Amino acid sequence: DVEAIGIDKSFGTYPALKDVSLTIRDGEFLTLLGPSGSGKTTFLMILAGFEAPSAGRLMRGGRDITGISAEERAFGMVFQGYALFPHMTVAENIAFPLKVRGRPRAEIAERVSRMIDRVDLEAHRNKLPAKLSGGQQQRVALSRALVFEPSLLLLDEPFSALDKHLRGLMQEEVRRLHQELGTTFVFVTHDQSEALSLSSRVAIFDHGRLLQVGTPQAVYEKPENRFVAEFLGEIN
Ligand code: ATP
Repeated sequence: DVEAIGIDKSFGTYPALKDVSLTIRDGEFLTLLGPSGSGKTTFLMILAGFEAPSAGRLMRGGRDITGISAEERAFGMVFQGYALFPHMTVAENIAFPLKVRGRPRAEIAERVSRMIDRVDLEAHRNKLPAKLSGGQQQRVALSRALVFEPSLLLLDEPFSALDKHLRGLMQEEVRRLHQELGTTFVFVTHDQSEALSLSSRVAIFDHGRLLQVGTPQAVYEKPENRFVAEFLGEIN
């Protein structure tokens, strides 16, 4: 598990996160849900190690990892605009995280092929990203983030640029990958129905505070405060 304890984050005098404590359980699909500006991305950046908290700490298996670098944490990441390398083929993009880790060539080839097969990109392995559809590019990005078998995958609104149909397909893809791989997924969205349909648990943020954490059913049926009730009530 990864445990966030009393996380504060200020940008100048602006408090983006206020006393957030949250345990991310091994293997779960946890979604951080809240309106724009509620602090979801900031929390994800702190988990990833790209931002340091102003106060509080992160623990992992009893070890304090607050000061550990992003490289050392080695979590997988799929962010909006976290683009593919345009001059590399699909296979080369997916191989990249293994190359920088100095894995043996045979192992890289084996893992890349397995990943390409898993996301059904066999016919596209030697194409450049520009030749792929938006959904295919997202599948390459997911593959690149998962190929080194990270313990945690962080996804920040990965599908917000896609049209509704493609978005539905990618949600299915992510759900399937989570089930097959058993990796812990932390997913950020401001879309209530996306959060409720994908997650094992949902963490609801507003104005830098974590208001409620629970299963989709629990937060929907038993909102603990008025904001949660109204925010989830907006689902159409
Ligand atoms: P969105 O869905 O719009 O990305 P969010 O819930 O992810 O919203 P954050 O991006 O975490 O929200 O931002 C929380 C608040 O912190 C916002 O008011 C934002 O303007 C502010 N903020 C975030 N990053 C910085 C930064 N680097 N410098 C100054 N303010 C920041």
